[in-house]
Amino acid sequence: MKFERRDLLLIVGLLLFMIGLIPFMAPVYAVVIVTIMYFVIKVFVGKRRKSIQKDVGAGICMECGSKLLDMKCTSCDQPSS
Ligand SMILES: [Zn+2]
Repeated sequence: MKFERRDLLLIVGLLLFMIGLIPFMAPVYAVVIVTIMYFVIKVFVGKRRKSIQKDVGAGICMECGSKLLDMKCTSCDQPSS
């Protein structure tokens, strides 16, 4: 898992959430819940990013914005003859 600046915000948010949980339960449980939440969010974000990459595919043509197929644009790279 790559550590990003976004993760820092997530950790800060979860820490605040953990502090909010402590009055209602033992600190150990609050830590466990927040740790589980952290990994669930990480997996969710990773999956969503993968699905976006899959959607974009190999990339987008710089000329027309079409999807690239086998590193070739489906509109621009057609034989001109
Ligand atoms: Zn193109």
